[in-house]
Amino acid sequence: MSKLFYETFLNTLPVIKNKKELEKGIRRRDKHVCQLCCRIQGNKKLLIHNINGNKKNIHPDNLISLCFYCQRKLNTWLRINKRR
Ligand SMILES: [Zn+2]
Repeated sequence: MSKLFYETFLNTLPVIKNKKELEKGIRRRDKHVCQLCCRIQGNKKLLIHNINGNKKNIHPDNLISLCFYCQRKLNTWLRINKRR
């Protein structure tokens, strides 16, 4: 393992851990309910969606919990609107 690779590897570890913690926090804030259809996702985890589409913006205001169906609907909608 090269030194640079190792250092990069170490640097990404806390980010991944924090991202998981962050997503957990967002789901808790949204009471584990989809923010579009208000459906409870059951034992499946809600997906965390970046409202402005910028995945690097991890501010809680930019993140909402969505169920699988709404996430898919939203992505389709966004694709259609981009084409216009
Ligand atoms: Zn939904």
